Amino acid sequence: MMKNDQIMKLPPLLFSLIMSLFALHVAADENFSEKRRVMIEEINDTVRLTSDYIGKTTLDERVMAVMAKVPRHEFVPDKVKSYAYANRPLPIGEGQTISQPYIVALMTDLAGIDQDSIVLEVGTGSGYQAAVLAELVRHVYTIEIIEELGQQAERDLQRLGYTNVTVKIGDGYHGWAEHAPFDAILVTAAPEEIPEPLIQQLKPGGKLVIPLGSQIGFQSLIVVEKDSAGKIRRRDVLPVGFVPLTGNH
Ligand code: SAM
Repeated sequence: MMKNDQIMKLPPLLFSLIMSLFALHVAADENFSEKRRVMIEEINDTVRLTSDYIGKTTLDERVMAVMAKVPRHEFVPDKVKSYAYANRPLPIGEGQTISQPYIVALMTDLAGIDQDSIVLEVGTGSGYQAAVLAELVRHVYTIEIIEELGQQAERDLQRLGYTNVTVKIGDGYHGWAEHAPFDAILVTAAPEEIPEPLIQQLKPGGKLVIPLGSQIGFQSLIVVEKDSAGKIRRRDVLPVGFVPLTGNH
């Protein structure tokens, strides 16, 4: 980093070029925070529109505060950066997507987590959902089946200072037994049946939030709750459209 007095000794033309670049950088940042503010309004509108499904008209304010803070534009490829705060999924390469912000907020809300929670995410993708979770819990373990995406997400999460996220490349169908049990498990790709290992790795009192269904038929976001006696209860929340949970399991 240059000190101020060093900058002042630069030739005037170079100095003004540096200052204009700095002004551009600040303007771009301000633009992103304004876009993030609009995104929050759109999420709140969608929550109200879907309140009959989700059973509430607002989401947890801690979740919404994090949605207003995490830089989604840092998790998407350059060519879609200007759409980073649109309330919709975006392509992240390898035929995969970063989820719609409303869905990220809703799944985080439904997981019922707090600052002591240990969470498993299946389907790291861009790393954005993991970053949102990381702001709210003690540790996030996240599994991505496509190596290039998992490695890129890990680099982005490290660059942005998320030290409480561990990324693994593998088939998340099997969960991550070494770090189980989990207070919450979020799955961001849709299987047709609930993976049995994920139910086993859920703590009593914990919640599994998962889209379920086929690619050609109906998919539903469901919440599976395990009570203190280990009994399972399932609640259908909302019709959704997720990419499939792949892998040879
Ligand atoms: N949570 C992601 C984010 O914030 O960007 C969105 C994920 S995208 C909708 C679903 C991801 O799940 C894809 O990156 C896909 O490769 C991954 N996936 C699909 N099947 C998987 C599996 N069996 N294990 C782990 N990841 C899987």
